[in-house]
Parts: sequence; structure tokens; C-alpha cells
Amino acid sequence: MFADLLQMLAAMNIKDKTIGLLERRITKTALVLATRSWAANSFYEVDLHVPDADFDRPGVKYMKCRVNQLTYRDYTIAMWDVETKTCTLFVDAAHSGPGSEWVKNLKKNDVMSYLNVESHRYNNPDNKKLLMLGDQSSVGHFLALQQLAEPGAHIEGAIVITRAAHRTEFNAYYPDLNLHTLSAEDGSTQALARWLEYHGIDNDMVFLAGNVHMVTALRQQLRVMGYSSKQIDAQGFWR
Ligand SMILES: Cc1cc2nc3c(=O)[nH]c(=O)nc-3n(C[C@H](O)[C@H](O)[C@H](O)COP(=O)(O)OP(=O)(O)OC[C@H]3O[C@@H](n4cnc5c(N)ncnc54)[C@H](O)[C@@H]3O)c2cc1C
Repeated sequence: MFADLLQMLAAMNIKDKTIGLLERRITKTALVLATRSWAANSFYEVDLHVPDADFDRPGVKYMKCRVNQLTYRDYTIAMWDVETKTCTLFVDAAHSGPGSEWVKNLKKNDVMSYLNVESHRYNNPDNKKLLMLGDQSSVGHFLALQQLAEPGAHIEGAIVITRAAHRTEFNAYYPDLNLHTLSAEDGSTQALARWLEYHGIDNDMVFLAGNVHMVTALRQQLRVMGYSSKQIDAQGFWR
């Protein structure tokens, strides 16, 4: 809502300085503890200290990060620690956009701004067999779901990661997530649809995240395979 108001002020030719002051009043801040880039500087892990965050609230949480003047992007909070109020964001920056530019320039000890932390609640936390399907922008989302999963839950699934070096890094850093890495030679949707056809039966709950069109197509496939709406949690992240 405040972001909309600021957009309106920008359209009215209000001076940058005034907009800056207003943005500072409505945003909160977090301290960048570290950043780590994967191969080719196109995927980033960002460790943050977020003093005002309530990491205890239920659901998958995401921060509306200020990536440029009057420009905000959502990034999922993963690997959080309630006591120390620290967490990690996983940001795909292989494309051009304000979010990519922002993360590429972040460094240790920077103070970043965010509008708020929102959360997305999903069905039935008692599920034991969880299937996760997504593209590289969903790494943080799946790590968050792993952290929220009931003890003893079984996770499997697949994630499309275009760059071979990133597939190697993902498998080395997060083997416990138990997701197959797929290349996207004939497109993410096709790669995941094929994987799903062979491996996708008999799960309690399916989580989809990433490109909006990919998520929509996979959701349709799951419905045809017999999954109910309640068993599918679909999160479109980008178009
Ligand atoms: C609830 C929620 C949680 C999210 N969590 C994450 C997260 O944890 N990590 C994350 O990386 N993103 C996440 N996103 C997506 C993120 O908010 C941005 O939309 C995304 O990073 C693109 O922003 P941008 O400014 O870099 O590019 P934009 O200016 O929005 O887009 C520029 C161009 O790049 C293309 N593009 C955008 N994203 C991608 C991509 N990932 N791969 C290929 N092409 C792309 C667009 O189609 C467009 O053509 C989330 C979105 C939502 C709604």
C-alpha cells in the first residue's frame, strides 16, 4: 500500500530527496552479514541480520526488499534462526532486472531496506510425503519448506537449474534437500513435466514454485494425475 503511494508521488514529480525521506520512514533495515555468489556471479546467497523480523510466525516468509528507488522485490526467507534473527536469501540473478542488479552490488556490512515480511501459509502441516518442483528461483522456498516440515517427513522432487556448474553447487551444498537437478534444454516446464510423469505419484502434498507459466502448467498436469486442489501449493514467482 505504501509502495503504491510512493509510486503515485513519483508520478507527481516529487523530488528524489523527498521520496528518499518517505521511503526511509516506511521501510525497516537489515544488516548484510555475508554474500556468496555461485559460479559466474549469477546466483547469490545473502546472510542477513533482521532485528525486527518475527521468524516464528507460521508459513513460508518472504521479504519485500527495496532494490532501487521505489522498486521492491520479494525474496524468500530461508534457513532462519529465531534466536539470532538471522536468515539467508537465495537470489537468482542470471537475468537483467533491478533485483539482479541489487544483489550483485550487495556486500558485507551494507544496510539493506525492506518494506515488510509477509508469509504464505499452506495446507496441512502433518503431511509426510512432500514433492517439490521448481526452477532456480525456488531454492530458498524449498529450503524454507524443508525447515518447516514435520520431523520424519520425506521430501523428494526436482529443480531445473540451467547452468551445469550451479547444478554441481546445489548438489554439493544442499544434498539433504533430496531434489534431483535437471537441465532446461527443452524448457523448464517440459523437463519438470517429464520428471513428474515418471516420479510424481503417491505424495501427500506437492509444492510448485518459480515461473508463473511453468507453475500453472504443472498444476494442471497434477490435477489430471488425480491430485486434489488442496494437495497442491502453487507459487508463481516471476513471469
Ligand atoms: C512470494 C515471492 C517470493 C519470491 N522469492 C524469490 C526467491 O527466493 N528468489 C528469487 O530469485 N526470486 C524470488 N521471487 C521473484 C522475485 O521477487 C523477482 O520477481 C525476480 O527476482 C525478478 O526480479 P528482477 O528485478 O531481477 O527482474 P524483473 O525486472 O522483474 O524482470 C526482468 C526480466 O527477467 C525475467 N526474469 C525474472 N526473474 C527471472 C528468473 N528467476 N529467471 C529467468 N528470468 C527471470 C522476467 O521475465 C523479465 O523479462 C519471489 C517472488 C515472489 C512473489
